[in-house]
Amino acid sequence: MSLCHPEQGNVSCGACCGLFNLKLTTSEYKSLLLDRTTEFKKTVNFEVRHSFPIYRKERETKETHIPKKDDMTYNCPFLGYVDDTKQRIGCMIHPIFTGDPKSQNFSFYGTSICQAYDCKTKESALADLWESLFVEIAKDSVEYSFLSADHIFTYAVEKFFSHSLLNVEDMFHSYRLELVSLFRMRLDTSHQKNFTSFEINYDAFLTLESVELYLTSELGFEFEEWKKEFERVRKEKPE
Ligand code: SF4
Ligand code: SF4
Repeated sequence: MSLCHPEQGNVSCGACCGLFNLKLTTSEYKSLLLDRTTEFKKTVNFEVRHSFPIYRKERETKETHIPKKDDMTYNCPFLGYVDDTKQRIGCMIHPIFTGDPKSQNFSFYGTSICQAYDCKTKESALADLWESLFVEIAKDSVEYSFLSADHIFTYAVEKFFSHSLLNVEDMFHSYRLELVSLFRMRLDTSHQKNFTSFEINYDAFLTLESVELYLTSELGFEFEEWKKEFERVRKEKPE
C-alpha cells in the first residue's frame, strides 16, 4: 500500500489519471466515476480482449461533452471505483484485477507509463506522514486525490516549517491540528485547480518570505489568519 492506496481509511487517489481535468463538481466527479464503474462491469470481460477498447471508445465518446480545464490533458476512463462499497478509486484495468501484467496497454498512456509513474509527494521522504495526514483530513477519495496531487502546496508547507526553524517531521505531531486546518482551507480552493500531479514547481522556496507569498497567493487572507493562530500556538509550546 502507498500514498495512492493507503492501508488505512476508505480513500485513495486517482489524480494522475486526469480526473481533475474535467470541469465538474465533487458530486459530479462521483457520479462520473460511478457511471464508468457500472458500464465497465457490464461491458468489459477480461477474457475478451476487444471489450477493453470498445469500453474505452464508448466512454471517451460519452465524456467528450464535459468541458476540460486543459484540452491537452487526457482523462482516462479506466479510472473508476475499485472496491465493493464504491469509495476507493483506482485503475479498473490494473493487473491485480485483470491478471494480465500488460492490461493497461489498452489505455492511452500504456502499461509502462501507468506503472512507472510516481508523483512528487509519493516520492517524498515524508510520504507516509503525508498519507496518514491526508487520510485523516479527506472525507472521500475526491478530497484525498486533491490533497495527494497538490505537491507544490505540500512542499511549500514543508518549507514554511523548515524556514520557521521547526523540525519538519515533528510538525506532523506537534502541529497536527494546525496542519489539518491549513489543508482544510486548501480544499476550499482545490476544485478551481487542475491537479494532475505533473505540475512543475518553478519556485524552490528559498526563503520564508517566498513561501509566505506563495501561500498567501493560494489561500488569500485566510493564510494570514492561520499564521496568527499558528504563532500563538507556537508561543505556548515548550522550547
Ligand atoms: S497523483 Fe500520486 S498519489 Fe495520486 S495516484 Fe498518482 S502517483 Fe498516486
Ligand atoms: S490505465 Fe493508467 S491512466 Fe488509466 S486509470 Fe489505469 S493507471 Fe490511470
